[in-house]
Formats: sequence, structure tokens, C-alpha cells
Amino acid sequence: MPTHPDPLDLIRRGYAALDAWEAGFGPVESDPRLGVDADRLAEAVDEYLGRLTAPPRGETPGMYPFGHPRYVGQMLKPPHPVALAAYAIAARVNPNNHALDGGPPTSEMEKEVVADLAAMFGFETPLGHLTGGGTVANLEALFIAREETGGKAIAVSREGHYTHARMAGVLGVDCAVVAADDHGRMDLGALEDVLRTGGVGTVVLTAATTGLGAVDPIHEAIPLCRRHGARVHVDAAYGGFFRLVADGEDVPEGFPAEPFRAIAQADSVVVDPHKHGLQPYGCGAVLFSDPAVGRHYRHDSPYTYFTSADLHLGEISLECSRAGAAAGALWVTLKALPLASDEGLGPVLAAGLRAARLFHRHLDDADHLAPVLAPETDIVVYAPEADDLDVLDARSAAVFQQAMDDPDDPVFVGLYRLGADRLRRRFSDLRGDAPAARVLRSVLMKPEHEAWAGRLVARLDALAGALRA
Ligand SMILES: *Cc1c(COP(=O)(O)O)cnc(C)c1O
Repeated sequence: MPTHPDPLDLIRRGYAALDAWEAGFGPVESDPRLGVDADRLAEAVDEYLGRLTAPPRGETPGMYPFGHPRYVGQMLKPPHPVALAAYAIAARVNPNNHALDGGPPTSEMEKEVVADLAAMFGFETPLGHLTGGGTVANLEALFIAREETGGKAIAVSREGHYTHARMAGVLGVDCAVVAADDHGRMDLGALEDVLRTGGVGTVVLTAATTGLGAVDPIHEAIPLCRRHGARVHVDAAYGGFFRLVADGEDVPEGFPAEPFRAIAQADSVVVDPHKHGLQPYGCGAVLFSDPAVGRHYRHDSPYTYFTSADLHLGEISLECSRAGAAAGALWVTLKALPLASDEGLGPVLAAGLRAARLFHRHLDDADHLAPVLAPETDIVVYAPEADDLDVLDARSAAVFQQAMDDPDDPVFVGLYRLGADRLRRRFSDLRGDAPAARVLRSVLMKPEHEAWAGRLVARLDALAGALRA
């Protein structure tokens, strides 16, 4: 029977082990200069806790309750207690995975989890490492792409993450924007037009997009890119772990399994364990299918790399210091909750997908709300009923605000801006000439959301209904 471990028990056990290990090096007095004044500490901690637990509403707003099922806003949730404890244990010693001598055990663990992630995607002889997050991981993939393609442009869908264009600027390469369809997926006709210009060296495909949770047709785009000699990078920072569901027994309705399977044919892929991998921030990962690209990272450091002739992770990373604790936390988490379809992480991911489908079905039946489109992954975009763009915008904002302001039955959702044309293709009788309007957006990334979907929609529907009165 699975249990829910208390992270404090795990941390105590970890600290006891580290105490015993450190005792082997001989006793050390704590330096008095690192001592703290008890009153000053109590005051600081009081204020710290007060600010962290302030109500989300009010003059100096506190945090939204990211771990509670009532929070269906952005892609935010707490780490698993196991990850939290494993991180806290290693962080006491604070290994640095820049070089093997900065943290031999956690560097080995990093190589092991990177191999696990690569196996999940079907990369056979991968090179890769963890990063501070998805942005740096994508930067590394685009840096390698620039080196491999002689500085040719990258192409990314209009719905791709905003940091790709910014990082193209950092790297000094052009960025072509490819149109997307109404579902938020890259338009392959538009991609072919861009590839025909001959200036594009790398195509960035997204699984899944940060806005709509849409999955680019990777399985169809890759052959197209190959015909035009372009590299393929898959930004699966958000959705990479859905790869596990693609192999599952019952794939949820509308879940695009084929694009996820096709990631195996990409040149590089990025996945964020700190999004769907139950890790604390910063834990991203970049993986390359061809280990020979490691040569582009070559550099000399006079400070490090002394203790071992083995590959140092610092030799294949743009970042220098990286938390060994992040690697340790992911390593323990994946031992406890393996990367599998039928146990461990797979069922956690599948539950979010099912929650989004339930949420969508309840929206379809709602009186005063309607879904904008069916979810491909675990993000749902929906709108209050309205016959005018400005009214739609104002009602979305009102539901968003009122839902979180209700102290007795709060629900925390997100907002998303859609163009007027896109909205009219869904709601044909929308009047008004506003260029865009805000709609509601929810990320159902916690397995608890499966049980809460109906109740959350009922609450939001009641609020939307009250706006009409
Ligand atoms: C979150 C996200 C990123 C950026 O990753 P960070 O970890 O926030 O730096 C990049 N691409 C996609 C698709 C994302 O969802």
C-alpha cells in the first residue's frame, strides 16, 4: 500500500546520516560568528512566516495556495514531499554539479536521471544535463543548433514560448515566426513556406504550449524538416512527461500520443522536472540525440576538473554552478515514483489529463460558461457567455477576481488573451470591434483535480451567471 511520507521524518533521517558521516572527520565547534541573536531571529522568522501566509487578497497579497485543488490558475504546484526532503538533505552539504569534485555522488545521480529522461523520450546514445530551468535548457539547445547550422535562423510557432525569440536575439540568430491553427498547433503549410526560404537551420516544435497546452504535430513536422535539411528541437519544458501517457493502456480522449512518440527522432529536447516532474524550482533538462555535439561546449577552466578524467558535467553545460541537491532530489523522486506509464509518474500525469477532460465536459454542460476548445493536454481555456467582445473581456476579469476574492469558497483561475477573430470563429455572434478579449484559463496539473473538476466549474458557472443579473 503506498504511503504519504512526512518530509520532516525523511529530513531527520537524512540529517542523522549526515551527522554520522561528518563525525568521521572529527569534531568541529560551531563558529560563534555564525551564531544568531535569538530575538532577532524570532522577529525575522515571524515576519517571514507572516508574509508567506498572508491572505492572497489584501493590500500586501500573500501567495495563492498552489498545492490546493482550488488553485487552477497557472502551471504551479508544490514539489513532492520526497523531492523536498531529498533536496533539503543534500543542500545541507550543498554539492555543486559543475564539476565532479564539486559533488561526486550527485553528479553521478545527475547522469543517471539524465539517462532515465533520455530513455523516456527514446534517445539511444544521449548527451545531456540538468539546468536551472527550461529557459536555460532551451538556450543551450539553440546554442548547439547555432553551432551545428552555421548560425542559420530558427523557426518557432507563434504559440511557442516567448523566450525562444529572446534567446535567438542573445545568440545573434534570426527567428522566424510560424503561424498556428485555431488549436494552437504549428501550421505545417506555414512551416513549409518558411523552410522553402532556405534560411532556417532549426525548427523548434512545442509539446505542449504554455498557453493552450497544444501539441505541435511533431510526427508530421520532422519529415518536413528533414526534407529541408533543418535541425529539430522539441521544447517539451511543460509537457515532456506526458510522453509516459503516450504508452499507456487507455490514452485519454483527444490526447495526441503520436507527436510525443516522435520526439525520439528530434535532435534535442528540453523537459522541466520542476513543472510536471514534482521538483522544486530550478530543475530543467536538455538532451541531445548526438553526443558529438558536446564538442561545442569545449572550454578550459583553471579552477576545476582536477580529480577525475571522467566527463565533468560542467564541460557540457553553459551554466557553471548548478545545485547538486536538484539532481539528488530528482534521483530519489524517480526511484520512488518511476518514469513509467502504469506506476509512478505516468498515472499522476494521466490524472491531470482526465481532470482537464472532465473540466471541459462540465463547461460544455454549464449555463453561463463555455469551453473555447477541447484540451489536448491539461490546460483548459473557457469563456463566460457574452455577445460582445468588451463584455466578454470584462466578465472574464470579473469571474477571475470574484472567484479568488470569496473567502468561503475561493477558486483561483488564470486569464488568457485571445484575438477577436479567433473568438468569433468559436462564438459566431460576438459583436464589437475590440482587437482581443480576455478569457479564462485553467491548468489542471494536480491529480486531485480529477475529483474537484465538477465542483470548480459549478462555482465558476454560478459566478458567471450572477454577472448577468
Ligand atoms: C515553462 C516553459 C518554458 C520556460 O521554462 P522555465 O523553466 O520557466 O525557464 C519554456 N517553454 C515552455 C513550453 C514552457 O512551458
